[in-house]
Amino acid sequence: MLFVRLRSLLFELCPDHPVAFCETCRRAYTPEQLGTEIGNGCYLCRQCGADLRESLVAHTRTCRNLAPQKPLARMTSVSGSTIPPAASERFAARRRIRLGLDAHAAAG
Ligand SMILES: [Zn+2]
Ligand SMILES: [Zn+2]
Repeated sequence: MLFVRLRSLLFELCPDHPVAFCETCRRAYTPEQLGTEIGNGCYLCRQCGADLRESLVAHTRTCRNLAPQKPLARMTSVSGSTIPPAASERFAARRRIRLGLDAHAAAG
């Protein structure tokens, strides 16, 4: 994603909370605090000049405001593929047991 586009997104969706964090200064920045001049150091820490793009990008991955349908679909496909067949079998067995226990508990 173009950084300029990312920033306008943050301005639109995250104007009321910090979207970048400088670890050196322990300082959080809202989009407005980062400045409005597009493409001219708007992603730099105002105090130490550190590049906060990574922090911004991390925010776009974690912020609920910026979580559209796409990341969700990716997450489910990733979690499905990370479980090896053997493990998923064990998991399924455990799940069956758990479900049985749950049913028991519900009955009792
Ligand atoms: Zn946000
Ligand atoms: Zn800083």
